[in-house]
Amino acid sequence: MIIKMKAQELRQLFFDFFRLKDHNIVPSAPMVVKNDPSLMFTNAGMNQFKDIFLGNQQPGFRRVANSQKCLRVSGKHNDLEEVGHDTYHHTMFEMLGNWSFGDYFKKEAIEWGWELLVKKLEIPEDRLYATIFEGNKEDNVPRDDEAFAYWEKCFSRPEGRIIEGSKKDNFWEMGETGPCGPCSEIHVDIRDDEERKRIPGIDLVNKGHPHVIEIWNLVFIQYNRRSDGVLEQLPSKHVDTGMGFERLCMVVQGKKSNYETDIFQSVIKEISAITGKKYGVNEKWDIAMRVIADHLRAVSFSIAEGQLPSNNKAGYVIRRILRRAVRYGYTNLGVEEPFIYQLVTVLSQTMGNQYPELISGKEQIAKIIHEEETSFLKTLGKGLKMIEKMIDELEKEDKSLMPGKIAFEMYDTFGFPVDLTQLILKEKNMQLDLKGFEDEMKNQKNRSREDASVETADWTIIRNIEGTEFTGYAKTEDEVQITKYRIVRVKGKEVCHLIFNKTPFYAESGGQAGDTGHITSGNEKIAIIDTHKENNLIVHVAKKIPFDPYAKLIASVDTEKRLMTANNHTATHLIHFALRSVLGNHVEQKGSLVTPDHLRFDFSHYSKLSKEEISKVEILVNQMVRENISSKIISGVSMEEARSMGAMALFGEKYGNTVRVVGFGKSVELCGGTHVDSTGNIGVVKIISEGAIAAGIRRIEAVTALKAEEYINEKLNIVNEIATLLKSTGNIVESVEKLLSENSSQKKIIEKHEAVSATRQLKSLIDKAVIINNIRFISGKIDIDSSDVLKNIAYEFRNSSDNTVLVIGSESSGKANILVLVSDNLLKERNINAVNIIKEIAGEINGGGGGQPFFASAGGKNPAGIERAIVKAADFLKKP
Ligand code: ATP
Ligand code: MG
Repeated sequence: MIIKMKAQELRQLFFDFFRLKDHNIVPSAPMVVKNDPSLMFTNAGMNQFKDIFLGNQQPGFRRVANSQKCLRVSGKHNDLEEVGHDTYHHTMFEMLGNWSFGDYFKKEAIEWGWELLVKKLEIPEDRLYATIFEGNKEDNVPRDDEAFAYWEKCFSRPEGRIIEGSKKDNFWEMGETGPCGPCSEIHVDIRDDEERKRIPGIDLVNKGHPHVIEIWNLVFIQYNRRSDGVLEQLPSKHVDTGMGFERLCMVVQGKKSNYETDIFQSVIKEISAITGKKYGVNEKWDIAMRVIADHLRAVSFSIAEGQLPSNNKAGYVIRRILRRAVRYGYTNLGVEEPFIYQLVTVLSQTMGNQYPELISGKEQIAKIIHEEETSFLKTLGKGLKMIEKMIDELEKEDKSLMPGKIAFEMYDTFGFPVDLTQLILKEKNMQLDLKGFEDEMKNQKNRSREDASVETADWTIIRNIEGTEFTGYAKTEDEVQITKYRIVRVKGKEVCHLIFNKTPFYAESGGQAGDTGHITSGNEKIAIIDTHKENNLIVHVAKKIPFDPYAKLIASVDTEKRLMTANNHTATHLIHFALRSVLGNHVEQKGSLVTPDHLRFDFSHYSKLSKEEISKVEILVNQMVRENISSKIISGVSMEEARSMGAMALFGEKYGNTVRVVGFGKSVELCGGTHVDSTGNIGVVKIISEGAIAAGIRRIEAVTALKAEEYINEKLNIVNEIATLLKSTGNIVESVEKLLSENSSQKKIIEKHEAVSATRQLKSLIDKAVIINNIRFISGKIDIDSSDVLKNIAYEFRNSSDNTVLVIGSESSGKANILVLVSDNLLKERNINAVNIIKEIAGEINGGGGGQPFFASAGGKNPAGIERAIVKAADFLKKP
């Protein structure tokens, strides 16, 4: 009998089990990955330990276990399309894992896995199957006899329980290159006894049956794959395991679907309550409810980590996940109003215990989801109208196939989902040219692949030294040695990546841009154009490899830029502090960018900052600058110590990290960046803009020091120039106001004169009127500048004449203007329309126009055409 328990208890049991086996229980790393160009989201528990497997980092502990937030929606692991349609793949899920870094290996990993599932949780062993690697000749890897032997000892009747699997299922690789090894999976059969008798479970393993599924994967990392494809033995062997927590819950709670466990039930009930539709009645509704319950988690966790929906990279993936949820709600459940945001409360109640960021971020998460829902629902509405129009056009042409290009444009430009397009077409008995659509998609993918194409060669090892010591807090120049290098081709251009034993170059992180500078060796000087992190490595991007890569080099940071960056970074901290003082403690950092030229700071706050608030912030910051507060920086403190020093905890620290605390008076932050020694260096801080970037998130941009001086001087110069132009010695604002009011009264005087003149000119045109087709045709040029005056005169004339068409042209600053007025009776009785006339003649002045049936006008670039236009108007009236 399986021991029944709640999700929370089960997670705890896993931790306790491995704690007793001397494992250190560590927190989940963030789900949104930073500092790894090859990965957007954590997709397995091992991601945060990559550096250990690669040999770039020494493990803090030899045995570790945890529950890791994973997201499988892009790249190598992409389960998005399955989610909701099946009952056991999620976008975001928790992966329980235990690790050995060069410690225990296959024997313990297998025995403990068995002990937990069979002895502790009492899952009957006749429901379990184990897979092992069958071996591969090409790679020269034998069948995993070891793993087989250990499994044989676990099962009391091992016959038909241990299955050999191919490279595809049972050989794990981190990527094209790097650590890899055979793996052994545990599958569980949760079908009813009758079903199990009918079809043996062994026939269903790895066949996509929803009730015979993999729950635990034990990976034995023992090889490294080189870029030439050859495997070499790793000096120390590791264990990496991953078990889907939601799937384990399903098994333990005796359910047939992950969504029936207590992890999802409260959210699903809430969806039912809001939509008035029951779960388990209608397959279409069920799919939508599963999609929404699942995507809610992915999106909420992402926002809680500070990754908001946006238009590119990780943010775009999150936006698309949320839109998928909205769309299922819209099409399957018929909800046309935002509602997913309402589920955040229940979610934070269910999962906040393990992930407190869901509780503290609750309001913000709901707000952002609400805004996204609202705007996407609008898109859907607009898209639906567009599709209807297209369908009308197709119907008119008697066609029933919509070109793929149209569906692609709808998808690409408006985010309008193609399956929805198909659905609507189907309702109208029409079809989409799906192949055409897919071709367009493929083209686009190829285009972006070419844009992003990066070829990376293997590292060439110069010296066997692990990691890089960062000496840049104290120095901007250091004597260094290359430990390894590689060539990287980005969009056809070659650069080289250099790793040193130590470096004064700061690698881009925490919003601060990477250092630039150069390295010298003898007479050779090579520019370093950027510095970034790749996991634990500090990568210097250089134009070429030094002539002698074994030689000692002098690495020199561009000190001027470094200082400008430090000014901006410290200013960012001061602005953060000042914002909290002025606006309140709800202000939290949501992102930042610090470059030599300027700084950007994103923070949570719900309304636009008033001029006074901005000014208060600026005054407070500059006051702190003048106080010339010295920095107080302490490295290597634990999170607890940092918190007790008053540092605000930032999200995104990995297990084992100690932190660095940067203080300037009352401003205390966790930060790895480079700062000024004392705030006086900054000189002055000037805020240059403030605006919204998402619901409840605002952005401030500012400049400091020389850049602030330049900014202020530029503004002052403008003021001075204006004063000179105005010959103003006193208050220029008053001078400008005076100028404006003089200007407007003069304009009035001119218009009065022009009106008199225009009336006179019009009168002489009236005298020269001709009769065409029983219509009095008044036409000619009037020489005045203001088209408004002309319009007024024409309007006045309208009331006083029947049977008349008036066409007058004027010219002002090289541009032509034509007015057409038609008497009301002509419009009524003979259907003569001013708009038709203007359309007929506007081409003559190289322009276009329009208006109302009795009055229309056109502007154009060719005054010489006015006369021809008038002739054309006369011709128009001559027609019967
Ligand atoms: P599957 O074949 O079922 O997709 P997988 O081979 O992709 O699984 P692994 O990469 O080995 O799975 O991940 C380890 C464990 O994580 C799996 O045994 C499973 O329990 C769980 N898991 C994997 N993908 C998902 C997912 N999308 N949702 C929930 N759990 C998952
Ligand atoms: Mg999978």
